[in-house]
Amino acid sequence: MPTPRFCPQCGSGDLRHQLPPGDTHERLMCQCCAYIHYVNPKIIAGCIIEQDGKYLLCQRAIPPRPGTWTLPAGFLESGETTEDGAVREVWEETGVRAEIVSPYSIFSVPQISEVYIIFRAVALEMTGQYGPETLDCRFFAPEDIPWDSIYYPAIRQILERYIEERQAGIYGIYMGNDFSGKIHFIR
Ligand SMILES: [Zn+2]
Repeated sequence: MPTPRFCPQCGSGDLRHQLPPGDTHERLMCQCCAYIHYVNPKIIAGCIIEQDGKYLLCQRAIPPRPGTWTLPAGFLESGETTEDGAVREVWEETGVRAEIVSPYSIFSVPQISEVYIIFRAVALEMTGQYGPETLDCRFFAPEDIPWDSIYYPAIRQILERYIEERQAGIYGIYMGNDFSGKIHFIR
């Protein structure tokens, strides 16, 4: 999120990083009207959708990294639940009407202030109609997945884990980040 140069409340250019009274983090504060600029992480919600051992991937048409393949996912909108956002992104990016099965991965990327929440889901209907953010979308068998063109290593790890877990018939929930994390199995 770009740092504002002017106060969005009163238009003053006198913004300074300060610790608000009783707060734990420094914030950009307006010296004229006491507006406090909070910057909080963004949430990306998406789905891993498997059907008959094949996995739904979409090819990005837009930056970052156009041409790479990824799970359908995108930024949550205000007023939306994570589940609704995930299903909406699947619809927009693949034209698939999906239904959530369970959470699958809660993955934090604190370096860029993003949190990915990925659900297991099933496809109810495939229309073949998708939006301009997608070049192509397809169900891939594991051996056909374009492994070298997957958008981000964490997405690759989610796919690899799902393929293993499907063989075992037991699905876990990952919580963590790039450096450390744990797969939780609930009995
Ligand atoms: Zn102000």
